[in-house]
Amino acid sequence: MQAATDDIRWMEEALEEARRAGDEGEVPIGALVVYGGDAVGRGANGVERLRDALAHAEMRAIRQAQAWLGDWRLEACTLYVTKEPCPMCMGAALQTRIARIVYSLADPRWGAVESRWRLWEGANRQVAVSGGLLADASLALLQKFFVELRRRKKAVASRKGAGYLG
Ligand SMILES: [Zn+2]
Repeated sequence: MQAATDDIRWMEEALEEARRAGDEGEVPIGALVVYGGDAVGRGANGVERLRDALAHAEMRAIRQAQAWLGDWRLEACTLYVTKEPCPMCMGAALQTRIARIVYSLADPRWGAVESRWRLWEGANRQVAVSGGLLADASLALLQKFFVELRRRKKAVASRKGAGYLG
């Protein structure tokens, strides 16, 4: 079960990236691109700080991996991500020919691996996908983030006067 052990280790690192994003006020999602036993790309969600809707964790990790390897082809790479990729990120994974995608929490609303869309079906290349790894940890991070976000919004609302934000 060496492969499974490695998958857990890498997903834990992706969860670290997610935590980092959360600490900086981002929705906590993290990603890693692994090549030959090394992490060659790391990404934490950066949409708010960078004011860039394209700065999803996977996009940032894929960019870094391309730069690191000096190649846009990531054929021998695995993408680890703490939430099922959206259509943009799944598209990027297909464009860069990533061989394998391991995600943690499924996303019924935006998931483009299998929950809402199966974007890789019909693509003219093979990609191995698996989901659900350490999904409880990923879910806990996201839930904690949104609970805190609601608390902060409520605090702001009460400072501004009751009823201001509904
Ligand atoms: Zn995405």
